[in-house]
Amino acid sequence: MALINENYQKLQAGYLFPEIGRRVREYTTANPDKKVIRMGIGDVTRPLSPAIVKAFHEGVDEMANAATFRGYGPEQGYEFLREAIAKNDYQQYGVAIKADDIFISDGSKCDTGNIQEIFGNDNVIAVGDPVYPVYVDTTVMSGKTGKLSEKGYYDGIVYMPCTEANGFVPELPSQKVDLIFLCYPNNPTGTVATKDELKKWVDYALANKCIILYDAAYQAFISDNDIPRSIYEIDGADKCAIEFRSFSKTAGFTGTRCAFTVIPDGVVAYNKAGEAFPVKPLWNRRHSTKFNGVSYPVQKAAAAIYTAEGKKETAEIIAYYMENARIMRNSLEASGYKVFGGVNAPYVWVKTKNNMSSWDFFDKVLGEANVVGTPGSGFGPSGEGYFRFSAFADRENVIEAMERIKNLE
Ligand SMILES: *Cc1c(COP(=O)(O)O)cnc(C)c1O
Repeated sequence: MALINENYQKLQAGYLFPEIGRRVREYTTANPDKKVIRMGIGDVTRPLSPAIVKAFHEGVDEMANAATFRGYGPEQGYEFLREAIAKNDYQQYGVAIKADDIFISDGSKCDTGNIQEIFGNDNVIAVGDPVYPVYVDTTVMSGKTGKLSEKGYYDGIVYMPCTEANGFVPELPSQKVDLIFLCYPNNPTGTVATKDELKKWVDYALANKCIILYDAAYQAFISDNDIPRSIYEIDGADKCAIEFRSFSKTAGFTGTRCAFTVIPDGVVAYNKAGEAFPVKPLWNRRHSTKFNGVSYPVQKAAAAIYTAEGKKETAEIIAYYMENARIMRNSLEASGYKVFGGVNAPYVWVKTKNNMSSWDFFDKVLGEANVVGTPGSGFGPSGEGYFRFSAFADRENVIEAMERIKNLE
């Protein structure tokens, strides 16, 4: 008899984005003449930049020629890409990450989910609340949790509220935890963590033998020089942190697929007897066994991000989205909303007025302004009463959406 993984039955039905899709479809079917502007899902809208497309084409041409054709590549990723990452994303900033610490993959969603496999099921996982849902759902799938409570929390996960009061960076947990997911710049709140705040977490992890799983998918959107782009800018993080980065938001790779995970040699975890083991060989084993590498043209395209033209073009696209964010912040503030984020991240996190619930605000904004955003409560109970607007949109739509929201009564 084939048995299912019953942990899947604990997963919350009616996940956020399907529910948004359902409400939007219902509205557009009933109101076919209305022009709905979508600022909900965090997906980029600008095309790949010319330098990236050129490299992508060259990669395809090499694959079409017997002399330059490539079959399986190294599971960890091509050296040319890992070297470019180490040099440009780390060493240039004085951070001692080397090509050998980097594992190329087809996405940070997969990496942040798959990483759990190399850690035992007795680990207690801590996550922010609100949170990128992947960390929570993959924890449930792995069997580390009990059921979902009525309040929307899984038994066995430690939720760390990220609120206006703590500047959306959680307090250190009061109970024992082992693996800590942190994401800065943050999705969904669009807020950042300072060096001092991250230092507090690194010190905690070192003192308690925890590992920080640091999702830096939005690091390219940081404009403030004092805000750390990498957890490894913090002393000691190379002994307790794994960093995830993706080209999805950085360079429009959401549909092209390329990301990477960084694991320095000094990061260790323990067996039940308390002996320390480096984590990198475990991930290397997992990656080589279950993954056969990202396609060559895609890696070649990703490497082009680090060329002079690639850097310039990528910075221009990021500036375009961040100008959207600036317009959104200014307009929403002028309309009397309390606004967070949107300065070093492409998300604007808005407090609803008069304690309106996130979903009521969703329905109001959809019904009266014909704009789609994301209800904060969909990212966790502490997101209730908030709403996320994504700056990944076309400028004219941003301007029109803000105009319509200004006119809401
Ligand atoms: C978009 C996003 C990612 C990137 O996922 P990919 O699988 O690389 O496209 C990772 N983490 C967060 C929080 C994100 O919002």
